[in-house]
Amino acid sequence: MIEINNLSKRFGDHVVLKDISLRVRKGAVVAMIGPSGSGKSTLLRCINLLTMPDGGRIRVGERSMDFDSGEGRRMHEKDLASYRATTGMVFQHFNLFPHMTTVQNVMEGPVTVQKVPKARAHALAMELLTRVGLAEKANAYPDMLSGGQKQRVAIARALALRPSVMLFDEATSALDPELVGEVLAVIKALAEDGMTMILVTHEIAFAREVADEVIFMRDGVVVESGPAGQVIDNPAQAATQSFLARFN
Ligand code: ATP
Ligand code: MG
Repeated sequence: MIEINNLSKRFGDHVVLKDISLRVRKGAVVAMIGPSGSGKSTLLRCINLLTMPDGGRIRVGERSMDFDSGEGRRMHEKDLASYRATTGMVFQHFNLFPHMTTVQNVMEGPVTVQKVPKARAHALAMELLTRVGLAEKANAYPDMLSGGQKQRVAIARALALRPSVMLFDEATSALDPELVGEVLAVIKALAEDGMTMILVTHEIAFAREVADEVIFMRDGVVVESGPAGQVIDNPAQAATQSFLARFN
């Protein structure tokens, strides 16, 4: 479903991703962990093409792109937008449109990117808001919502584009502790529904519970990957062990 081969990215002289290869099968949940600056966000952004990789290949579903040949750089804005819709991204800071209501935020992508008729987009948005437990907030503006509610709207907004994979970049890191659970519950429900996902997270216990596979990154390389139980409970690499020791 997602296949990444030899992906590389540098900013100036700084090589941030070195020859990353990984595979996420359909319906699998992969958690990505690792120290600050290890390249986790950059990798998600490359998958979503918010950041253009310098080399390697990415396949998401039927769509594959070869960055060695410069294919990504030649993509038109319209193709980029439609590709991005297939990889729904949720950020630490929700980035909702402040001047739009909750339901308008969720409808925006389908209406503008996918030309879905407004009535249908509205119905879909209401369905998704119900799914994240926020139907009654449909007409509220973002600044009237709690952080946890905003993040659930952001999840509904990404889902509205019917992505084949969801990418979460520390979706709960900016939340007050008491609001983390409601967002994790939505992510867990998505996992149970069979959504393919990559989660960058510092919630190690959550990763252990929800992820099928855990990837440990450091300095732009995948140091270790494997079944969640194995990597978290019994890491093989010293770097993984010392990283995880901080969470105990
Ligand atoms: P964190 O856990 O702090 O979010 P991360 O693993 O997500 O860290 P990245 O944000 O991917 O790390 O950053 C990896 C490296 O790339 C860092 O050294 C960062 O400073 C650098 N970097 C990221 N984006 C850019 C950019 N647009 N320009 C220059 N350097 C960048
Ligand atoms: Mg990051």
